[in-house]
Amino acid sequence: MADIIYTFEGGIYFNITNKCPCKCAFCIRDKVNAIGEAKNLFHDVQPTFEDVKQAIDSFGFKGNETVVFCGYGEPTNAYDCLIKSAKYLKEKYPEMYLRLNTNGLSDLINEKPTAEEICSYFDYISISLNAPSSEEYDKITRNIYPGKAYDAVLKFTEDCVKTKKRVRMSVVDVIGEEKVEKSRKIAEKLGAEFICRSFEAGR
Ligand code: SF4
Repeated sequence: MADIIYTFEGGIYFNITNKCPCKCAFCIRDKVNAIGEAKNLFHDVQPTFEDVKQAIDSFGFKGNETVVFCGYGEPTNAYDCLIKSAKYLKEKYPEMYLRLNTNGLSDLINEKPTAEEICSYFDYISISLNAPSSEEYDKITRNIYPGKAYDAVLKFTEDCVKTKKRVRMSVVDVIGEEKVEKSRKIAEKLGAEFICRSFEAGR
């Protein structure tokens, strides 16, 4: 089985699924099979919660680390496993800080509102905004919900902000300065933090 938990530049990451409703122009999955200490991040079979639990129990956590669910796919595509894993971590390690890196499409993927439940376990939600308009978003992400994905991301973000958890939206600098600034305004209007990532640096 591929790595479920791996480390990268001192951080600890969870890779619970390879599924994703997008095919982003800049997705790292199209370039390499693994990053950091991971050997392979492509699962032959979708990990179950029992697989994730086993990986957690054998990792040797101290209990106060920050861990990030991101993976080589969209974590909310494995929603039940995501929630069960976060719940298990919080019960086992109450001091652990959980961050979710997501494309913000969970409500569309799971066909129900999900922000509240996610935020009841995660301390920090980082959402990819990608672009300042629906048309540009669809062009960059090549998602399977054209025309409605962008609004779903904004709504999910708004719902996360309402829970008072830390929420951040991100774009990649390749979209150009003007669009970065427009995106910043959208994120700030929603009450989220904003970050522009460097495509070159890969973060
Ligand atoms: S949302 Fe993330 S995992 Fe999915 S295609 Fe885009 S960059 Fe890749």
